[in-house]
Formats: sequence, structure tokens, C-alpha cells
Amino acid sequence: MAFWNNDQPDATPKPTARVTPPQPPVQPAPPPQPPQAQIQPQAQHPPQPQAKTPQQVQPQPARQSLEERFGMMMKNSARTPAIDLAIQISDLVLEEAVANRASDVHFEYHGNNLRIRFRVDGILQDALVLPRNQNIPITQRLRVLAGFDPEPPATYRTEEGRFQKILSGRPIQVRLSAFPTINGEKLVLRVLDRTQMGLNLDQLGLAPEALDTLQKIIHSPYGIFFVTGATGSGKTTTLYAMVKTVSTPMINIITLEDPVEYRLESINQAQINHKTGFGWGEGLRTILRQDPDIVMVGEVRDKETAEISMRAALTGHLIFTTLHTISAAGVVERLFEMGIPPFLIASSMLGSMAQRLVRKVCPQCSVDAAPPPVAAVEEFVKSLDPVEAKSVKDIIYADGGRFKVEKGCPVCRGTGYLGRVGIFEMMIMNEVLRNQVLEHNSTDVLRRTAVQNGMRTLLMDGISKAAAGQTTIAEVLRVTATMV
Ligand SMILES: [Zn+2]
Repeated sequence: MAFWNNDQPDATPKPTARVTPPQPPVQPAPPPQPPQAQIQPQAQHPPQPQAKTPQQVQPQPARQSLEERFGMMMKNSARTPAIDLAIQISDLVLEEAVANRASDVHFEYHGNNLRIRFRVDGILQDALVLPRNQNIPITQRLRVLAGFDPEPPATYRTEEGRFQKILSGRPIQVRLSAFPTINGEKLVLRVLDRTQMGLNLDQLGLAPEALDTLQKIIHSPYGIFFVTGATGSGKTTTLYAMVKTVSTPMINIITLEDPVEYRLESINQAQINHKTGFGWGEGLRTILRQDPDIVMVGEVRDKETAEISMRAALTGHLIFTTLHTISAAGVVERLFEMGIPPFLIASSMLGSMAQRLVRKVCPQCSVDAAPPPVAAVEEFVKSLDPVEAKSVKDIIYADGGRFKVEKGCPVCRGTGYLGRVGIFEMMIMNEVLRNQVLEHNSTDVLRRTAVQNGMRTLLMDGISKAAAGQTTIAEVLRVTATMV
């Protein structure tokens, strides 16, 4: 089994992330609170002698943890009005979220505490725990920023809003969702940091051949191209990168999205609004009367949207969209299920690309590892298509492999990983595949054909990135587990 575990017992994030360390000397005294209400430090912060060097004139808090900065803030807050404190604390949390590259910030009540968690590289981490009854209106402050009333509605309903804030000198877009739970209101902030989004195609992590192919696709005169993957797999980022790459003043690009995740310059973005009847079908029909060259359809989720998109693709438009399937080949079967006729798929589809995000191994603490043992690899590849199995073995045993295993250090907050990179599989339609679509073949048949024609699968791409020392085999298998 578990051939990827060379010298690591398992691949789950290291428990050190939640260990309560001894108080380092820089830690300020916690505010006078009942014992259960203490701020829980969750990451290890060894004493940092360099923090006292002379050039550090300003008390630069950037490398302090959120709980340390929060502790300092509370210490000096005796005369600060509660509302100002709420503003300071919410700004501090957002700043820290951006500094930690968090994609989401969760505010949730648990018993006597308000718990704040960050999602970093796809994994939730505790950031701060505050006593619930501090009379500091933190969640109210966030609600007001998002354009809500300060207090949650008396009747059970969800709310969505957005705001922009300048944090660390750059504009950060935040989308806020409020959800009433039995413990109190839960707020989730999605943080959209422009600088964090690699909005260039060459920053996504595509292998050079895949990047070339995608460049050809986005410069096709017409046709439809699907990007697939679960929520949080980075497919919207990929679509934005595609749109941004082809954007010139000479072409008209329109997007239809729900929600508009991210505002792009010189692209006409439209937001679905079901309340006003501006749904996918209606929106798409309207867009097609707007003389578009390229249309990005946020998601094809029903027959109507799929059919309008694919017919538009046949009449001279280039359409980029997403679909919920786990593999590139699975797109065709999903379209069959929606009731799209095979000839329409075969004639309009340029191809499809499945993607996932894998965490990159931390460059500070990762450890070199030998390739996995032959017996374990042989066992693992048994379940794969023979062509894919051979490719996986070739990648693992190629000369120059630089496998790594994760360890954990303060830089990566004990997780062993820092940042993420995409893994991709791209199925480009050809004569053989088109005929197989017309004959209504299954995903398995299409996938095998694509692999035989040289498609690099998610697993193969992931293992290549592990062999290049960008990630670990354990991480690739965690993320592609549903594929094999
Ligand atoms: Zn590290």
C-alpha cells in the first residue's frame, strides 16, 4: 500500500499547527479574561532574536502572528470605544488573512467563543479565538461593510454582499456570506487578492506542451472549450487567465457569471440575477445579441445553457465555460446526460481540461526523498489503464527525479506546504474522438483513446510535479484520489 510514504507516517497536516507552544518571550500578556476565554495560540513561534536588531526601528508587526498582534491591540485598548476596536480588529484580521494568503475567513460562534479560521492553500486553520461576550461588535462591523444591517435579520435568511478594502497598500475584494446557525451567525469572507491570482496562463502551472495547446485553443476562431473541476479547483482563475490572454481592443469579450468573482479590466462582465429573471438562458441569449467574439459562461449547468452555448460555438463564437465533472473525458457523458445530441458535441467541442490544485511543498523545510519502492508502485498502477500505468512508472523512474516529503516549520505554519499549483489533464478533440462521441461512447472509452493519443492525465501531471520536487506524491494522491 501507501507507496508514497517513504519516511512520513501520513500525509495529513501536521498536528504541530494546533499545538499550544510554551509562551515565547515576545508574546504579550493575554488580556485579563476568565481562563476559558484566553486566546489560543495555534502555531509555533520560536523566539526570534533578529526581531531586536537595531534596524527594526518601527515595531514592525508583519511577522507576528494574529494572536500576538491582537494581544498587543487589546493591551493598548483601555480607552478605545468598542466600535473603533471592532474596526481595528476586523481590519487586523483581514490584513492577516491577506498576509497569510488565505482565500476565506470564517467567523463562527462555538460555545463561549468567536472562532476565526483562515483557509490557506485549501485547508482550514485556526487563526484566533475570542471570548464571545466582549461587547466588541466585530461581526456587526463586517456586516455593515458588506452593506447589511448591523444586526442579523430576525427571520431565518442568508445574506450576501461584497466590499473592497485597501489592505497592505492594495485593493482587496471581499465577498461576504452570512448564514444563521443555531449557535449564532456564521460569516464567511472570500478574499480575492488580485496579486495572489496568477492571472497569466503561464502562471497556472501548465506543462509547456499543455500551455502551447491551450494557447492554440484560445486563439481558435470558434468552438467551445470546457474547464472542469470541483469548487475551489481554480477553474475560474483559469477561465479568467484565458480571457485576459486573448483580450485586445479588437475583440468583444463578454462574460456571464454567478457570481462575478473578480472584476477584470476592459472585459464586459455580467452577473446572473435570478430575482430579476436574468438567468443563464436569458443572459446568454442577450449576450449573443451584443456582437460578442468570445463569451465566457461561468458554468453550464442545464440543457438550455449548454445548448445555446454550443450552438453559438457553431455560429462563429468562441465559448469558454466550466462544467462539473471530475475528468476531461467526463464532459461528454455529462453533456449526454443533459440531453445534448452527440452531433452537437462532436461538431462544436474543441476540447476540455480537468484541473485540481495541489499544495506546493514548503521550500524551507521539505526533505529529499527516494522514489517510491518498485513493489508499491506496481501495486498502485494495477488499477490504472495500461498506457497510463506505464507513463506513471516512466515518470517516477525517469532520471533526475527530485522527490520531496513535507516536514513543517514556522514559515509554513507546521503544515509542510506553502502555496498551490494546478495539475491538469487536457483532452483535445480529434477525428477518432469525434467519431466516438457520435457513437455515444462512454467516458472510459473516450479517456482511453485520449490517453493512447498522448493525453497527460491529472495523475501523470501531478506525479511529474512531485518528481520535479514541487509537491509530494502524498499530496497528489490526496487530490486525485477520486480518479483512481
Ligand atoms: Zn515549512
